[in-house]
Amino acid sequence: MSLDPISLGVAAVLLTVVSGALLLFAWLQNRRVTALFWWGIGFCLAAAGALFLGVQGIVPGNRLLGNGLFALAAGAQYVGCRSFNGRPPKILAAFIGAGLWVALWPLIAPHFPARVFVISMIGAAYCLLMAWELWRNAPQRLMSQSATVFVLFCAALYSIVRAGLGLVNQTLTSVDPATGQWSAPMALVLVIYMPTSAFLFLSMSKEFAESEFRQAALLDPLTRIPNRRAFFADAEALAARHKSRPLSCLLFDLDGFKEVNDTFGHTMGDKVITTFAQTLVHFLPSGAFGRVGGDEFCAIVPQERDEALTIAESIRAAFPAAVAEKLGDTLGVTVSIGCATAVGVEPETLVTMADAELYRAKFGGRNKVIATSGDIVLFPASPMGRRKNRD
Ligand code: GH3
Ligand code: MG
Repeated sequence: MSLDPISLGVAAVLLTVVSGALLLFAWLQNRRVTALFWWGIGFCLAAAGALFLGVQGIVPGNRLLGNGLFALAAGAQYVGCRSFNGRPPKILAAFIGAGLWVALWPLIAPHFPARVFVISMIGAAYCLLMAWELWRNAPQRLMSQSATVFVLFCAALYSIVRAGLGLVNQTLTSVDPATGQWSAPMALVLVIYMPTSAFLFLSMSKEFAESEFRQAALLDPLTRIPNRRAFFADAEALAARHKSRPLSCLLFDLDGFKEVNDTFGHTMGDKVITTFAQTLVHFLPSGAFGRVGGDEFCAIVPQERDEALTIAESIRAAFPAAVAEKLGDTLGVTVSIGCATAVGVEPETLVTMADAELYRAKFGGRNKVIATSGDIVLFPASPMGRRKNRD
């Protein structure tokens, strides 16, 4: 079966330009993902490059311009990958390949193998840079990102093989695609590669947005620490990993917080809550923690009773000092802490136990740490309900 290079070339240009338009449209819908802009521009430049390469003999300098645009397109896509990872885009990097192509042009223009080699290696370098960027510097591992890395790696491999073929056999027209005029094999590669990579870039941005939503659903919007739902999910996972080892629960409730709101206003109240969350982040060892209510926070840590008590005591002492330092010393806000330690109990049960101790801390005068006495091994017989209800 022989493939018509003109039809395939036209198809490649059209598919590339449609891919670019789709990416730019996606960017207009969600401008926070600047990568979509760079990828869209990259596809449009590649379409222009492919178009120039198809007009051999009509537009003078079409080889220089067409391949230059291809190099610029790859550069824009690399900038897009950096921006997707939240790293500085380094826009200059987009021009290096095209600059190299233009600078070398006087030397390579008359030599077909040299042209193939240079443009192929520029393409391979950008593909490898993009694959490396998406693999090494990704803040989170998205499935579509791994697929993109694979496709980019294949594209880099293809370009390297093409560079090698160009070097050893200058009569092999099928490897002269992007250096003079359309050839069926290269147009076919573009017809497959362009929509595939555009689809993957779009999938990446969609998966990223979804993971951001999922993340936001688990974070408390004021303090940016885990919310109640996330805390219990993390605590369940922690409990599953520490079935036969002690876990300690620290339950915190700010003292006289309503008065802070009433006297200094809600905004100041918010700042006090945020300061407490920062104190927690500073002092807590790894485990599960979160904001479980208005001025209520909870942590479950894989520590013995005495160690947990020491941590709780550090937090109790540090919080008023942090508030005084950040917000002034007129607020006089403190925290009461209930601690419970047990082996092999559900997080909910452990929290109920700590709640009973918090109740004692509140009624014992507040600004205190109270813990279960001794090591409680199994389920305690005090389903006393929430402290707030008892109040
Ligand atoms: P206690 O010492 O017994 O804990 O008394 P309290 O004044 O701290 O009262 P309590 O813990 O029962 O009430 C917490 C208050 O926190 C009630 C609510 O108005 C306030 N609150 C809840 N969420 C927020 C918030 O996001 N920001 C602010 N500023 N206040 C909040
Ligand atoms: Mg309170």
